[in-house]
Amino acid sequence: MTLCNSTHETFLQQDVAAILEQIASEVQPLVGKGKVADYIPILAQVPAEQFGMAVATIDGRVYAVGDANQAFSIQSISKVFTLTMALEAVGDALWKRVGREPSGNAFNSLVQLERERGIPRNPFINAGAHVVADVVLSQYPNARERLLSFVRERASNPDIPMDPEVARSEHETGFRNAALANFIRSFGNLVNPVDAVLDFYYHQCALRMSCVDLARGFVYLANRGSCQHSGERVISQERAKRINALMLTCGTYDAAGDFAFHVGLPVKSGVGGGMVAVVPNVLAMAVWSPGLDEKGNSLAGAAALDRFTALTGLSVF
Ligand code: GLU
Repeated sequence: MTLCNSTHETFLQQDVAAILEQIASEVQPLVGKGKVADYIPILAQVPAEQFGMAVATIDGRVYAVGDANQAFSIQSISKVFTLTMALEAVGDALWKRVGREPSGNAFNSLVQLERERGIPRNPFINAGAHVVADVVLSQYPNARERLLSFVRERASNPDIPMDPEVARSEHETGFRNAALANFIRSFGNLVNPVDAVLDFYYHQCALRMSCVDLARGFVYLANRGSCQHSGERVISQERAKRINALMLTCGTYDAAGDFAFHVGLPVKSGVGGGMVAVVPNVLAMAVWSPGLDEKGNSLAGAAALDRFTALTGLSVF
């Protein structure tokens, strides 16, 4: 306990605003580089030359730089919110239907699913997120509204929307997701109709949030499962630990090993160019820049997280 508090206090003695300014200027040469996701056509229209970063501490301070208040499509970052809801609803029974190991494959790969008889490797690859979506649909009447209010409460922003255009664009081109969901259903690991699961999944991916929203929205995972602003317990301390562990091992597509090596924090990324990271007992942060590297992680975002842990000395290791 003393150790945790002192880590937090040591961090607050640093000039966090100046650190964020320094990071923004250091990663500037990468902003606009990489490739904006274009397999979801509407995401291809997002201008690449943007960069924002925000930090929210467990005692309620928020620091931001650049385009940190610009809302964007959070895509796979939403998988952490739905995992939280599914675990709250069914507890450890979830692990009979989805695994907890890194996949070593692309996030939308089909190959493993056949060998492993419809049990996705982890909740953060698309197949795993479909199973989690199925659980949320079964357990929560008006699941979409429940997700929206869950996210709005965590972020203290009642205006966070799900962008219907993004959900529609993904639905129109979601051939791989449809293949995955049908395949899982053929093994009996989806209960709801495939269309209902995909509709919910596309809408969770279409949540629009800013870096400030996301940093605030992830504080419960930094704060041992409790919300900072309300003091409300969102999940147990143990469950927060487990979700953080999954983010560390499976949160950045097939680059999780590299992220553990360079950044050393639980991180979740999305193809909209957003990334969130958790420093347990200290803070949550989010970074956004739409240009992606070949594994699907934000190029400037990854560099920014790397610099943050180097400059502050914060990591779980
Ligand atoms: N909606 C995207 C998909 O299913 C999410 C991908 C991501 O952000 O990783 O392909």
